[in-house]
Amino acid sequence: MSDYPHLLAPLDLGHVTLPNRVVMGSMHTGLEDRAKDFPKLAAYLAERAEGGASLIVTGGFAPNLEGTLYPGASKLSSRREVARHRVVTDAVHAAGGRIALQLLHAGRYAFTPWCVAPSAVKSPISKFRPRALSDRGVRRQIRAFARAARLAREAGYDGVEVMGSEGYLVNQFLAPRTNRRTDRWGGSAENRRRFAVEVVRAVREAAGPDFLLVYRISVLDLVEEGQTWDEVTALAREVEAAGASILNLGIGWHEARVPTIVTSVPRAAFADHAARLREHVGIPVVATNRINTPEVAERVLAGGADLVSMARPFLADPQFVRKAAEGRADEINTCIACNQACLDHTFVKQRATCLLNPRAGRETELVIGRAPVRRKVVVVGGGPAGMAAAVTAAERGHEVELLEGRDHLGGQFDIAMRIPGKEEFSETIRYFTRRLEVLGVTVRLSTWADAAALAAAGVDDVVVATGVTPRLPDIPGIDHPSVVTYDRLVRGERVAGQRVAVIGAGGVGVDVCEFLTTDRSPSLDVDAWRAEWGVGDPERTRGGVERPRPEASPREVVLLQRKATPIGRGLGKTTGWVHRASLRAKGVEQVTGVVEYERIDDEGLHVRLGEDGSQRRVIPCDTVVVCTGQDSVRTLADELEERGVRVHVVGGADVAAELDAKRAIRQGTEVAAAL
Ligand code: NAP
Ligand code: SF4
Repeated sequence: MSDYPHLLAPLDLGHVTLPNRVVMGSMHTGLEDRAKDFPKLAAYLAERAEGGASLIVTGGFAPNLEGTLYPGASKLSSRREVARHRVVTDAVHAAGGRIALQLLHAGRYAFTPWCVAPSAVKSPISKFRPRALSDRGVRRQIRAFARAARLAREAGYDGVEVMGSEGYLVNQFLAPRTNRRTDRWGGSAENRRRFAVEVVRAVREAAGPDFLLVYRISVLDLVEEGQTWDEVTALAREVEAAGASILNLGIGWHEARVPTIVTSVPRAAFADHAARLREHVGIPVVATNRINTPEVAERVLAGGADLVSMARPFLADPQFVRKAAEGRADEINTCIACNQACLDHTFVKQRATCLLNPRAGRETELVIGRAPVRRKVVVVGGGPAGMAAAVTAAERGHEVELLEGRDHLGGQFDIAMRIPGKEEFSETIRYFTRRLEVLGVTVRLSTWADAAALAAAGVDDVVVATGVTPRLPDIPGIDHPSVVTYDRLVRGERVAGQRVAVIGAGGVGVDVCEFLTTDRSPSLDVDAWRAEWGVGDPERTRGGVERPRPEASPREVVLLQRKATPIGRGLGKTTGWVHRASLRAKGVEQVTGVVEYERIDDEGLHVRLGEDGSQRRVIPCDTVVVCTGQDSVRTLADELEERGVRVHVVGGADVAAELDAKRAIRQGTEVAAAL
């Protein structure tokens, strides 16, 4: 008996049977935009099909030029564009999978001067005011959806997904927030629904009966003047009647001020809407958002969803379903919802990949094959860079030993996982620990590497991943008993007092503020998290927007930096705003433009502010936490090099200035892939 009976149950959809309940959801990788990248896209998607995704949904393709997300973004609007897709559909079919093309019309979210919308209402996240569509214009968009569906069928797709959520064009017609029309496409709820329903009807007619038609339905807009629950359920019924074969949930508009997918969102926080919607329709309903392990997926399916959709978890591990089916769930590289290498890349027009799996989207470029000669490799340091290097070297057939000075693996991830809202980071340590075990790597904990011993042992290659040490700024009184470095605080070696000053407002300073201002992590309690962010029920308030009720901070915290720019500027595009909102909600005082940290003494932290530094301020506090960056630890590397040992320095030991797990894991993997 499998641990995941619901997840692994087939689903008969009439003309096609899905082998299990896991859909790989849409994720724009950037490879969709140019014909020359389609072979790479094909390799990326085929690997996921081979790994067991029952149905893959591509990144979004606009049905016409007006619907493109930005100039040059992917679209499928002419026969000329069909041929390039064949390589993708053939590769997925050859791997035993099924694939649907997502039809995404950006509407007012298009970052183009030619964008269109139901009404000329500008979005708060775009600089372009859309042109309101005429009645003829509306009909032209519907015809474009139908034509794109026909072309998708010609290109060999098994279906299409009509993107009706996240605040894109179809969703813009549905909500009073963006639909101010008074003609047959606006006004009453029935009129606002007409565009979505006519699109589905036209797509069904164009593509024929034996074609999957997934409709992505926004069940929770999370914006003011969004839809009510009655409107959502009426839409679901009409879309079903118009020919949809599956309803996939969409949560939150892109302009919503509620996080919906970042790591601090509790697992499966929105999945209950699938079972609720299921009561109103006869077609399968797909649950989405923050489902990242087979256990969570199984629970959601047992709770009433017919399918689960995961996008990022398939970037982190293409073999997700296969491993679950083979009883190897503990070997899954679990997506930690950090967004750092996927969505944050998409926003700056870089190819999406995965922080944990640098091969994602680069399957044809980063090939980890068997090494021609088996070498003896020692990796020193059990943080992300070292663990990635050891795993990759072992996968290539080398004899690998991993030495770690502490009594546990994890490095900086062992600190990150202790921050409220970052609990997912522990999954990465679990994954690497298990992979090292499966691959037969000898792991020696509480073992400090010795250059002389390594040189004498006849090791072929040493990968030095000795990480970083917190940087202590040169401030008078830095040795005062109130001062603690962030790592010691977060590891619980010191406890902060009631009034705290945090020096340095990079990613770590902001994390430390979360740590200091949170008693119980709301990420582990859906109700507390909903209260904190004001996530309500669309049955009570339009769009499900309520007044946020965050828990009060147990401490007074002041966060300081020397830069005059707003705090959190350097954080990820998709996560920075969440951290900034959290700091505000917890009443953290943010002080920018510090000219000088004068001293730390019994009174507290003395700083000079103002353009000429003439304003003096004392911040009374009983704890000062230092988060001022890190220095590389690379003594061992230097000693080994002096002894003529072949050394490869990776991660923070190589460059501390940009200490970041994305680079560390990629570098560890790439170095080992070339050994
Ligand atoms: P960081 O980003 O370099 O921030 C350290 C801050 O300390 C600087 O912004 C700097 O701000 C200040 N500082 C540096 N030297 C100082 C000195 N001598 N005296 C006083 N202030 C000084 O380093 P971090 O916060 O440790 O983060 C390290 C890396 O981890 C980053 O690359 C980040 O990507 C990653 N990270 C990200 C997140 C996240 O995205 N949530 C969380 C954790 C870590 P001023 O010069 O303005 O004072
Ligand atoms: Fe998940 Fe982060 Fe990888 Fe994106 S980069 S797939 S969020 S682990």
